[in-house]
Amino acid sequence: MNRTGCVEVEPFEGACQCGAVRYSVAAGPAKQTVCHCRMCQRATGNAFAPLMEVENTRIDWQGYAKTYQSSNVAERGFCDECGTPVFYRRIGADSTEFMVGTIDTEIDYRPIANHGIESRRGWVLELAGLTEKETFFTEGEQIISHQYEHGG
Ligand SMILES: [Zn+2]
Ligand SMILES: [Zn+2]
Repeated sequence: MNRTGCVEVEPFEGACQCGAVRYSVAAGPAKQTVCHCRMCQRATGNAFAPLMEVENTRIDWQGYAKTYQSSNVAERGFCDECGTPVFYRRIGADSTEFMVGTIDTEIDYRPIANHGIESRRGWVLELAGLTEKETFFTEGEQIISHQYEHGG
């Protein structure tokens, strides 16, 4: 793992939405970047991938993440129960880049770089200027989540 741009992070835990794939990461250096490349868009079904890169030796896996080799140089880990994209990894690399949305622990995520900007969607730059509201619930409606809850 190239340590350039790394910051020290506290231990953190994460999971897919059903909880079949869970992980804990020991404290240490992490590289926080956002990737807008076309492959990350496809792999996440989204506009970009916020990533947290850590060394493999600090990861304790609980549960099996299936992998898909998305190119000659990279594989992507996901839960084959619920489909959540969990990580990106260069083939044979000593580090793993977690999808930040899978992290349970409250972390101070501050990406230091945009990657894959040849595919960055123009509207991403305009998000900060849009109107805002919290998650909408119809009055009296009760949503029962089927997602894994940290510590639950
Ligand atoms: Zn799952
Ligand atoms: Zn990418």
